[in-house]
Amino acid sequence: MQKKQVIALLALTAMLGLTACGSNGSGSAGAGGAASKDNNAAAAPAKTDNGGAKGQPNIGVAIYKFDDTFMTGVRNAISDAASGKAKVDIVDSQNSQPTQNDKVDLFITKKVNALAINPVDNTAAGVLIDKAKAANLPIVFFNREPSADDLKKYDKAYYVGAKGSESGTMQGQILADYWKAHPEADKNHDGVMQYVMLTGEPGHPDAVARTKYSIDAITGAGIKVQKLAEDTAMWDRVKGQEKMAAFLAANGDKIEAVLANNDDMALGAIEALKAVGYFKDGKYIPVVSVDATAPGQQALQDGTLLGTVLNDAKNQGKATLNLAAALAQGVTPDKASIGYDITDGKYIWVPYKKITKDNIADAK
Ligand code: BGC
Ligand code: CA
Repeated sequence: MQKKQVIALLALTAMLGLTACGSNGSGSAGAGGAASKDNNAAAAPAKTDNGGAKGQPNIGVAIYKFDDTFMTGVRNAISDAASGKAKVDIVDSQNSQPTQNDKVDLFITKKVNALAINPVDNTAAGVLIDKAKAANLPIVFFNREPSADDLKKYDKAYYVGAKGSESGTMQGQILADYWKAHPEADKNHDGVMQYVMLTGEPGHPDAVARTKYSIDAITGAGIKVQKLAEDTAMWDRVKGQEKMAAFLAANGDKIEAVLANNDDMALGAIEALKAVGYFKDGKYIPVVSVDATAPGQQALQDGTLLGTVLNDAKNQGKATLNLAAALAQGVTPDKASIGYDITDGKYIWVPYKKITKDNIADAK
């Protein structure tokens, strides 16, 4: 390659924000080497560096724990959305708030340009906001909503998520519709839906809202309910199975419906139900949940899960990344700059959607 061509190539790759270090080794001198020595105008593209490598902002991302099916979807969506736009460093907080705080301190020491945090404990958001503010760093929370008071403390603090109440209402409606269309679901013919509820982590905003609003939607549809049992299974499939087995041991066939705050717990419950003969030889019980993860969709297909609600990991991840990247570059976030509306100056709300066997394609 001619020297001129090399320079032009370096200039082009720099403008495109690509790395000049190709596998052919021609970039080993770096753009600042060959290019600046020649003092060639074309070799000195405008530098839009925001502190990140190759002109892209660095974003420190902390997930409450990697071992969570839904959050894995969000995590992958963040990585996908970052491609060509930002450099993301995604860390596992291992379900420990002190660990997460340490990771955030490290991000700040490493001089990232923005933080995107899925808090372990949403009440710890205030402490994290103080850290971000002291370092003048934008901070975007996602999936676990901080209190409005905490968010108000800092003009560069935001939240991306979905309204737990909405998903609760939708899962309740799916069950109410089923109940009305299937009189045989009232197994003891007492005109009351005897149900059990598997909840997510105690205090988690989505768990609290889904538990309440699902039942409100059922009673709001004119259906009487009786709660036979409720317990937390911590969003977890194995715990969901254990808790459902305990519910069955105590209540047996008195149970007429199962509600779970997420798919993983419902999938565990379905295992426990299968173990006592459900989902074969005409023995059925409606199970509803939230998320529409891949295994959740499979269960819809199999006919074991009656319905779920799409918790849109793709858009939650993308909105989080787009917002954090814009803030890192000092760009005012709005629909035009990031593709999502900002509500009340602080929130991006991603809508939920009811999913049953009939519209699984909508969850893809
Ligand atoms: C999801 C759960 C997930 C939790 C993590 C919820 O919105 O529905 O599946 O475990 O977020 O915070
Ligand atoms: Ca009944």
